[in-house]
Amino acid sequence: PKIIVAIDGYSSCGKSSTAKLVARQLNYPYIDTGSMYRAVTLYFIQNHVSPTNPKEVEKALQDIHISFRRQDDEGKNETYLNGLNVETEIRKMYIAEKVSDVAALVQVRHAMVAQQQQMGREKGVVMDGRDIGTVVFPEAELKIFMTADPLVRAQRRQLELMEKGELIGIEEIAENLKKRDYIDTHRAEGPLRQAEDAFYLDNSFITLEEQVDLVVRLADE
Ligand code: C5P
Repeated sequence: PKIIVAIDGYSSCGKSSTAKLVARQLNYPYIDTGSMYRAVTLYFIQNHVSPTNPKEVEKALQDIHISFRRQDDEGKNETYLNGLNVETEIRKMYIAEKVSDVAALVQVRHAMVAQQQQMGREKGVVMDGRDIGTVVFPEAELKIFMTADPLVRAQRRQLELMEKGELIGIEEIAENLKKRDYIDTHRAEGPLRQAEDAFYLDNSFITLEEQVDLVVRLADE
């Protein structure tokens, strides 16, 4: 039977790399919920939406349509905001700097969680984020809570940004990760925390392959 695999954890600890490969092996779609909060953030910046004005936020959320489209046979999904491919833009540092504040807004969370529940209603899905096992799918059959050493995380994120042409110092990246972790774990609505029935996975010193194998094995149990 098909199941829901919920992967939560701190920023940049390899959730999406793992989720993508697990999804491919299980032949499930993969949904990266962080990209949805990033797309909302991009929209807020482009349209000068004030996060402290509930009316403006409400209006913006009605005008925001996020979708994922498959790009190739590898199953690579890219994020679309109102019909435009924003995949490259939402990965940039200026989005990372604002996204946790936007994601802390109750209205934003309610809108995104509802859409995520809709996308996973068929089962047979791998979803990663911060609140998937606790809020979006508390009944998920497999929950993973991922973490990694802060320095390892900062190095991985630096490499990712570098591959996309953004050269950013390790201190600035580490600071951004720390700040996002703080906001994500302290917000009132859907804070990042380990679900009681989640499998705790520290991947600082294991390879991506080992990690994917482990999650796939747990999914097959
Ligand atoms: O996973 P990623 O780093 O792309 O997520 C960007 C930000 O979106 C996180 O730092 C967090 O503030 C927010 N987020 C969230 N809930 C999720 C996924 C992401 O609040 N389910």
